[in-house]
Amino acid sequence: MKIIDAHAHIGYIGGWADVGITEEGLLKQMNKYNIERTVLCNEDNDITLRMMERHPGRIIGCLYVNPLEPKTVDSMESYLKKGFTSVKLNPLRHAYCADAAVLDPVLEIAKKYNVPICIHSGHPPYSLPWQIGLLAERHPNVKIMMIHMGHGHGVYIDAALKMARRYSNIYLEMSGMPMQIKIREAYETVGSDRIMFGTDTPFHHPTIEMQKVITSGLDEKAQEDVFYNNAAKFFSI
Ligand SMILES: [Zn+2]
Repeated sequence: MKIIDAHAHIGYIGGWADVGITEEGLLKQMNKYNIERTVLCNEDNDITLRMMERHPGRIIGCLYVNPLEPKTVDSMESYLKKGFTSVKLNPLRHAYCADAAVLDPVLEIAKKYNVPICIHSGHPPYSLPWQIGLLAERHPNVKIMMIHMGHGHGVYIDAALKMARRYSNIYLEMSGMPMQIKIREAYETVGSDRIMFGTDTPFHHPTIEMQKVITSGLDEKAQEDVFYNNAAKFFSI
């Protein structure tokens, strides 16, 4: 089965995480596990850009933006013109609330360039599904992928599904989310094109993330949507 990884990082992430992957390691992993394309981000967008240039078609650039840093917002357009096809936001990493007005200029630029937003979810008080719901409500014409679909807490996972059912511009990505059954629930109750596969490399191993889709109860045709078709459509790749 062909696979698109809708969410991965390159480089070393220190502090509590203490995880990392090199360019060579990422490509080796993609080849080994039949991952055709990876939607990649790094806080240093030039690192992602170099990866995009060295591996065209295989590495899909996701532009990392900190809405609290005007400089990074100002540089968005020049990077989008260089071929980035989505924008990454991490409210937990940069300590802002996902529903804050400070995100609006970022989403306006995303709308102008018709690129989707990928936003980390699952950590209070910054990135809960209800806050992402409020963001989606304010920007109905911007597609928003809720990375981790609520993450590790069952109540947040349920909220991610509820918010996605309420706002048709919310899409779900399942890396780091432990309940495989919720992948099927999302497919059936949110929409067959609104749940997609990701690894969050180097935080999680591809085989573990793949097992969740395989054991979710979805048939092979539906698994193809989750593993490939939905991300291809979402990122227009
Ligand atoms: Zn991540």
